Order: sequence, then C-alpha cells, then structure tokens
Amino acid sequence: MGELNAFLKHKRQPVSYRTIEERIHDFRELDLPLTPDEITQQASRCMDCGIPFCHGVGCPLGNLIPDFNELVFKGHWEQACRLLHSTNNFPEITGRLCPAPCETACTLGISDEPVLIKHIEYQIVEKGFEQGWITPEPPSEKTSNRVAIIGSGPAGLAAAQQLARAGHEVVVFEKDKKVGGRLCFGVPDFKPEKHVLDRRLQQLEAEGVQFQTGVQVGEDISSRYLHKMFDCICLTMGAGQPRDLNIPGRGYENVLFAMEYLTMQNKLNASESVDEREIVTAEDKVVVVIGGGDTGSDCVGTARRQKAKKIYQLEILPKPPESRPVDTPWPMWPRVMRTSSSHEEGCERRWSVSTKEFLGGAAVKAERLHGCEIEWTKKNNNWEIKEIPGTDFFLNVDLIILATGFMHVVHEGLIKDQGLKLDSYGNVTVNNYQTSDPQIFAAGDTINGPSLVVHAIHSGRQAAAAIDKWLREKQ
Ligand SMILES: Cc1cc2nc3c(=O)[nH]c(=O)nc-3n(C[C@H](O)[C@H](O)[C@H](O)COP(=O)(O)OP(=O)(O)OC[C@H]3O[C@@H](n4cnc5c(N)ncnc54)[C@H](O)[C@@H]3O)c2cc1C
Ligand code: SF4
Repeated sequence: MGELNAFLKHKRQPVSYRTIEERIHDFRELDLPLTPDEITQQASRCMDCGIPFCHGVGCPLGNLIPDFNELVFKGHWEQACRLLHSTNNFPEITGRLCPAPCETACTLGISDEPVLIKHIEYQIVEKGFEQGWITPEPPSEKTSNRVAIIGSGPAGLAAAQQLARAGHEVVVFEKDKKVGGRLCFGVPDFKPEKHVLDRRLQQLEAEGVQFQTGVQVGEDISSRYLHKMFDCICLTMGAGQPRDLNIPGRGYENVLFAMEYLTMQNKLNASESVDEREIVTAEDKVVVVIGGGDTGSDCVGTARRQKAKKIYQLEILPKPPESRPVDTPWPMWPRVMRTSSSHEEGCERRWSVSTKEFLGGAAVKAERLHGCEIEWTKKNNNWEIKEIPGTDFFLNVDLIILATGFMHVVHEGLIKDQGLKLDSYGNVTVNNYQTSDPQIFAAGDTINGPSLVVHAIHSGRQAAAAIDKWLREKQ
C-alpha cells in the first residue's frame, strides 16, 4: 500500500488543461500532466483495498490498479509499466480517452474523491515510452497459422498484437488509408494526437503484424479469398452504421453526419488530400450539433477550433443530475452531468429537446431548425416521449451536424455476404467470440454495438485468446 492514511492528508488533484484562449487555436492535446512529486502523492492516496472495486468491478480490462499505484508511489516505474501492459495493450489510449469507470468504482469515492487512476496510467505509459521500456515483444516460436483481421481499430489492433505474440502470422486489412479505426479518423486530434498511435504501430509492426490499408474486404477482396488464404478471420469492423434523423429537410447540403465532419478535419490536420467539395468549415457560422454524447462534444470542440460564431448542442434526453442518482449507487457507472473540455470552450447546451424539421425553402442549405421541448414519462416500465405544447422554437443555422450515434456494424457487403447471425440490435452474434461461421471470430463494436475503447481492447484480447485456442486445438 502507499502511504498510510495519505488519503486523509492529500486531496485529489485533477489534471488541468491548457488555457481555453491558447488551445482553441490548435488541435493539439489539452492535458497538463502532473509533476513527478504530485503524481507520487496522488498514487499514495490509494488505500490498497482488500476488495479493490476499481480493478474487479470498474475496469473492464481488470487492470491491476492498487498494485501499480503502489509501484508508482515507491518509484518503481518500470515494474509499473510492465504490470500495466500485462492487462492492457494500449494504456496510452485509455489513459487519454477512457471515461474511467475504475474511478467511479473506487472505494475512496464513497466518502471523498476517488484516486486519480486514469492519469496515473497515462504517466506510467508515457514514462515507459520516454525511457525506452516499451519495446517489441516478438514470439520466440512461430506457428504455421495465418489470421486475417478485418478493421484496425483498438479491437483489431489488440487482437493482432496478442495473436502475433502467440506466434501466428497476422494480416490486418483496413479500408481507410491509415490504421487506427475511430482513433485515427473520428476522434479529434486534441484527444490523442496521432503520433501517439504511430509509435505503438511501430511496435506492432516490429512484432510481425502486417497492415494492408485501403483494402475494403467484401469489395476489394472477397471473403472467399480470405477463407482460402487464412486459417481464421476476425471481424473488428466497428459499428459504422450511423443513426440518421429522417425528418423534413434532412437532404439540405449543410446537414451532415458527425463522422463526415470529424474525419475531414482529421485529414486536414494530417495534411492529407481532401476533395474541396468535402471541406466544411464552421468559421463564422451558427452551428447546431444534434446529440449530446461524446461524439457531439467532439464536434463542438472541432467547430470551436474552426472559429464558429455560435454553437448549440441539442440532446433529446433530460439533463442528468449533478450528483450520483439513487438508481446507480456506488460502484456502478452513474449517469451524471458531465462537462467536457469542449463544452467549457463555449457552447449552449439544451436537454429534453426534439428536432422536428430543417427549413430552407427552395435554398440548397437549411436556414432554420424547428424544434420543441419534450417530456419523458415512464409507462409500464417503458419510457415515452411527449411533446410539451407551446414550446416550439426556431434557431437560425448555417451548419447542422448529426451526432445522433451509431446503430451497429455495416451489414451491406461482408456481413450479408457471409450470412452471419445477428442479434436483435444488428450486432454480430458470437459464442466465446466465434460467429455462426466457425472460421470467423469477431470483437469490439462489431459485437457490442457502439461502445468504448476499453471494451474494444478487452474484447480484442479475449477474441485473440479464443482464436489461439481454436487454432491450436484444430491442428
Ligand atoms: C467521434 C468519436 C469519439 C469517441 N470518443 C471516445 C472516447 O472519448 N472514449 C472512448 O472510450 N471511446 C470513444 N469513442 C468510441 C470508440 O472510438 C469505439 O468504441 C472504438 O474505436 C471501437 O473500436 P473497434 O476496434 O471495435 O472499431 P473501430 O475503431 O470503429 O474500427 C473499425 C475499423 O474497421 C474498418 N472497416 C470496417 N469495415 C471494413 C471492411 N469491410 N474492410 C476493411 N476495413 C473495414 C473501419 O474503417 C475502421 O477503421 C468515440 C467514437 C467516436 C466515433
Ligand atoms: S478502489 Fe480506489 S482506493 Fe481502493 S485499491 Fe482501488 S484505487 Fe485504491
């Protein structure tokens, strides 16, 4: 354990950000990491609980949190780095992006503020890269098995790394020009800068993982070919089917999906060529982001950096409470009011509102948004939405971004061609990560629906273990 009763002496010291005035002029990361003394003090707050809920209930990866907290407190950083990587392939990503369910499950959170687990994780892995402790771990023996991974997001990359380390030949196919899935195209650069991904990809390549980018499986190469050339296929294609808002005016050309908008900005940041017709800027515009989740918040931050005149974010759900509600007691993940760094940079948020139509007459662009306030009522255990009469409102708009979420993996193409079994949400059904075709496994958002990076890494690792077992038993 860290320092006895340190949690009584030291308060949680949250990570601060670069000032708003500075950061809104670039797409670089925001965090100002704690100093070595400060981080040692934060690690000392851990009580090394007999039952560590952070590890057992909170962290989907089962990160050995009290153990690495103690190692950091005692200055054994290299050991902490090894321990962290024993359960998590990409702590540099979770240390930046994870909503940290470990912290909402931390015992200290019952009566005080939880341990600063996510930032301790970030500091361990950053020190690991800085000191050269994170090196390739190629297998000592190779098998003759070949595995094709379709999709290079965190699930595909975690599965690829685990399988390559187990000695199998692994080829990752990615339809985009670059590897990384949503982490590369989607999540803005101010969350993880893209060089963070690049240094990890170098490790994977040195371990033998091969990447084929710009290849859409099902279109550029057939799955029949993959069946012939590989012993096993793992689908980690994400949940790319966006939820549309089919209301009058949806067809106006200034109404676009969040992914179109965010991906375009990622490409511009990376100095990639973008067709002029695809370039959309929020500069001097009134922007409405529809959808109050993470993706919506990322659109707000992007529009702010593009110098939007005014930004609204509309959410259909009611405003969450400020503190943990009774229906999600500790150590559960609570739905509480969260204000992201992008929200702090300036946007007007509205809850319990529904968008009825976009108006623009004969123009090609929508000029106004027509919405109303709604009320949520529970009937026979089901939530129902009722419009509140007399609450109609209109907003003048120049750009509308639909961040209304994703539904499931894209069915058109590979999934349909293979005739894979789907669940009622449209996700690929698996039994221990094996689909209805025994040669095909699946992981990440493809089986979970839209979720989190930490779940994608977890299921990529689990799928790799199931594939490894299946391949070895098959021989
Ligand atoms: C804007 C945005 C912000 C987010 N922010 C956060 C956050 O802050 N924290 C968090 O934890 N999670 C966040 N998420 C969610 C997180 O990114 C996803 O849950 C995670 O990336 C899913 O990983 P995955 O590997 O399953 O799929 P993905 O990352 O979606 O990767 C799937 C890959 O498969 C490729 N592909 C699909 N079909 C084919 C095919 N036929 N052939 C070849 N390649 C194919 C796609 O091009 C893609 O690169 C965010 C998501 C978005 C969209
Ligand atoms: S629950 Fe919190 S205090 Fe307890 S071991 Fe985990 S991080 Fe430490």
